[in-house]
Amino acid sequence: MSKTLTFDDLKSRVTAGDIDTVLVCLVDMQGRLMGKRFHAVNFVESAYKETHCCDYLLATDLEMATPDGYAASSWERGYGDYIMQPDLDTIRLIPWLEGTAMVMCDVLDHHTHQEVPHSPRAVLKKQVQRLKELGFIAKTATELEFFIFEKSLDEIRKSGFKDLEPISGYNEDYHILQTTKEEHIMRPLRNCLFDAGIPVENSKGEAEAGQEELNIRYDEALNCAEYHTIAKHAAKEIAWQKGHAATFVSKWHHERVGSSSHIHQSLWTLDGESAFYDKDGEFTMSKTMQHYVAGLLKYAQDTTYFLAPYINSYKRFAKGTFAPTKVIWSVDNRTAAFRLCGDGTKAVRIECRVGGSDINPYLAIAAQLAAGIAGLEEKLELAPATSGDIYENEAAEDLPTNLRDAATQLENSKMLRAAMGDVVVEHYVRAAHWEQEEFDRVVTDYEIARGFEKA
Ligand code: ADP
Repeated sequence: MSKTLTFDDLKSRVTAGDIDTVLVCLVDMQGRLMGKRFHAVNFVESAYKETHCCDYLLATDLEMATPDGYAASSWERGYGDYIMQPDLDTIRLIPWLEGTAMVMCDVLDHHTHQEVPHSPRAVLKKQVQRLKELGFIAKTATELEFFIFEKSLDEIRKSGFKDLEPISGYNEDYHILQTTKEEHIMRPLRNCLFDAGIPVENSKGEAEAGQEELNIRYDEALNCAEYHTIAKHAAKEIAWQKGHAATFVSKWHHERVGSSSHIHQSLWTLDGESAFYDKDGEFTMSKTMQHYVAGLLKYAQDTTYFLAPYINSYKRFAKGTFAPTKVIWSVDNRTAAFRLCGDGTKAVRIECRVGGSDINPYLAIAAQLAAGIAGLEEKLELAPATSGDIYENEAAEDLPTNLRDAATQLENSKMLRAAMGDVVVEHYVRAAHWEQEEFDRVVTDYEIARGFEKA
């Protein structure tokens, strides 16, 4: 139900002078929009066919560094071009920027014109296609939690990230009064996204001072990833326009709750029936759903990297914070990594609670689908549901507790290598190692404060 503009709609709006700028974007490894701002006339006359970008955009980090060790892009290979090919089914208005539309691109090899396999969009498309060949369509929803701060991004950066005062003074979970004070950001965010064709359901205060959650209606996996990426971008831009900062770092302070991005998942037949619902199944789960969920559990450690891609992501996995620590499923229990939701209804679905707000949704959803597909193919049996406070469940396996371990799980994952391809897995293993190497090199404030006098 993605509400986009046709290319003809765009041309008419350009001719009428309503649109003068087209953002031509790809999604990078970190899940960010990268690309160029085209004059709309140039876009509709020629650039709609293709444009180009440096291939380092899919081999860099949050700081735009040029790490060594990537097979696809390097100084040795001369950092050549990729083709950015606009997917004309993804043209949409960007209502929070004047006269602006955007389009999402596939990333193609300059010479072979094949999709670059480690491009996040290609990684997800591959798993969507594998599911289709099994007769299923995945529908997903990613919740977006984030913090809003009093000051702007630029002021905070200039203060060395010291001047961090959340926009509210108290835990605002479900609060209407406090969230009214944030409506100058949240109302345009909801409404602009809605007008961009992104089916916003609601926003609400979350369980920490300054924390908001945005919910978008579930949709086919590729649309869901696109909604997430644009919504996250919009939250940052609209907060910036209003003189504030929105952050999706998953744990901004060790004494505050972190931000998650839970992933709701269900499978549907090609005829549009829920493949997860069976009125006679246990908790109304079909056999298909049981195999799928068993796959998510069996491969939870393999897929953790794609749900927690940075050093900081692992600080979120803490007891008593609603962020999971154990590989286990449960019925409507927010202490489990995988929560069964909507049982007894056709909306029966599984929610993966592992992901932080810093996920790349394309990669995170792709990894979930790959694990679920493995569950279907291996016809895995689902273990009985657990209950109670799962943080205290000694029998349950732990999720990886740090990036180093998650990277090793990824590297050793036969399942992900078979599902995504060795080239893709090795590319992201390198990304994980690079994050670790950079962190290991840096002396942190914590070490100095702890040891300067006392060591
Ligand atoms: P919560 O109490 O966890 O916030 P909600 O009822 O608000 O739960 O739903 C959370 C998300 O689940 C929403 O984004 C919604 O669109 C999505 N959702 C609902 N039904 C399905 C489904 N069958 N498959 C996938 N996601 C779904």
